[in-house]
Amino acid sequence: MAPTTTPSSLPPDTRPLVISGPSGVGKGTLYNLLFTRHPSTFVLSVSCTTRSPRPGEVDGVHYRFVTPEQFASLASEGGFLEHAQFGGNRYGTPKSVVEEARDAGKVVVLDIEMEGVKQVKATGVEARYVFVKPPSEEELERRLRGRGTEKEESIQKRLRQAKLELEYADTPGVHDKIIVNDDLERAYKELEEFVYKPREEA
Ligand code: ADP
Ligand code: 5GP
Repeated sequence: MAPTTTPSSLPPDTRPLVISGPSGVGKGTLYNLLFTRHPSTFVLSVSCTTRSPRPGEVDGVHYRFVTPEQFASLASEGGFLEHAQFGGNRYGTPKSVVEEARDAGKVVVLDIEMEGVKQVKATGVEARYVFVKPPSEEELERRLRGRGTEKEESIQKRLRQAKLELEYADTPGVHDKIIVNDDLERAYKELEEFVYKPREEA
């Protein structure tokens, strides 16, 4: 299918986009398409994590890779907007990301798990919440395995966590948009349409 050729421009609604969904569902694939097709419009919130980098992941670009001690110290200084444990590692969104994106005139994208979503909601920061769902649990497992980044133990932890993420997403009113990532291009169009729709009056 031909790529979308929408010209890059800020969406009418510039609130932070919080994207969540089970590990391996395709969140990164989807928002990276958004970044590629709308250059200079969005910025990824670079989280801190205690997990090890995967091949190709760059410190400061995909994550800030920190030691458990550094993470604990940042957390105790109140340096995180939210932080959580996932699959035996810690992940956190630095507090500065929302203001920095606003100052840079960009829309910030937070890729965070469920506990982080709850915490961001509790802060009162105005944001839009997108949940990405797999077409089936079997397909999720295929993608997670197919990505080739996780050991068996990590795959099992992520699949267990996926069930909780999916249950939470069933709670009415938690997310503004739920997208089933079946066909990538179709799901991308749905994300792009949501991102670019005008802000509804409260
Ligand atoms: P997440 O960021 O949610 O952990 P990724 O974006 O890393 O997930 O995607 C996990 C794997 O699934 C990758 O190998 C990616 O290429 C693949 N993938 C993503 N979307 C689709 C899709 N719609 N159909 C098939 N495979 C997909
Ligand atoms: P991964 O190890 O696959 O990069 O990420 C695992 C999970 O951690 C994903 O669900 C991702 O959304 C989540 N995650 C990444 N960064 C953060 C963060 O800063 N805070 C929270 N709460 N979750 C995060």
